[in-house]
Amino acid sequence: MATRRDDRLRIAVQSSGRLTRESTDLLRHAGLEFDEHDRKLLAPCRNFGLDLLFVRNDDIPEYVQDGVVDLGIVGWNTIREAGARVETLAELRFGYCTLVIAVPQNSRLCTPAELAGLRVATAHPRSLREFLDRQGIEAQVVEIRGGAELAPALDVADAICDLVSTGSTLRVNDLRPLATLYESQAVLIGCPTSLADDRRAPAIRRLGIRIDASLTARRLRYVMLNAPRSALPAVRSILPGLRSPTVIPLAEPDMVAVHAAVEEDVFWDVLERLKAAGSSDILVLAIEKMMR
Ligand code: AMP
Repeated sequence: MATRRDDRLRIAVQSSGRLTRESTDLLRHAGLEFDEHDRKLLAPCRNFGLDLLFVRNDDIPEYVQDGVVDLGIVGWNTIREAGARVETLAELRFGYCTLVIAVPQNSRLCTPAELAGLRVATAHPRSLREFLDRQGIEAQVVEIRGGAELAPALDVADAICDLVSTGSTLRVNDLRPLATLYESQAVLIGCPTSLADDRRAPAIRRLGIRIDASLTARRLRYVMLNAPRSALPAVRSILPGLRSPTVIPLAEPDMVAVHAAVEEDVFWDVLERLKAAGSSDILVLAIEKMMR
């Protein structure tokens, strides 16, 4: 466990890669002000006692586990692969991917059990071995640094185990998925020691509230609409809102305005149903921050 002298919090963020941009965007949206200066190692926040540390993706779980930093933003898969003892504080809704085993399109393999005695190339050996052990499959794990998708064509392996998001890399390399090991997304993680430290925990909690407010706001839209009073029961059933929608009488008799927050995931479906229920003049606004 590293000894830390100053009272500023530290958060580790990927220095350059898939998660970097969205990680810093999220922190900025949570109200933190900092300059990146080409992502030099350290960026102090001007308006919060927090320093951002830009580090290699694979170093983040251990830095957080060992207390080199208090917090980190990293793919859940990276923590799982490192076997790090850290606390997951929030799912951040980006960096979605799936760890899959894939085989060439023309392979005769149909189930993971048929991998017995065959070679699987991967940069995620721990996750793969756990899966194979759990399933009782005795396959050979060929550890590689990256570029697993090329391994079957080079006859380095019969199958690969790799992260996919859109699936286009598999398609381009004539591979098809055989099994899904797990799904992943970017997460905010915390060092258990920092979380239990009275000098650090309150600031971590305050930062957590900011990030949560930003995440909640991002997945909600504020919907305002007009509807005949008679349509209110139908509109209310479609728009549950956070607790219940706000209903305001309009100057026009028998008409009301309804305001509510709607989850982004169901947003379009809700909009169509609102229209069908007799709503008009539907306005949709982004929400800047949202605290429950
Ligand atoms: P990078 O170091 O830039 O390759 O970023 C790797 C991290 O991005 C992984 O650990 C995952 O959490 C995440 N990720 C999201 N989609 C993918 C993908 N299709 N392939 C690899 N990593 C992905």
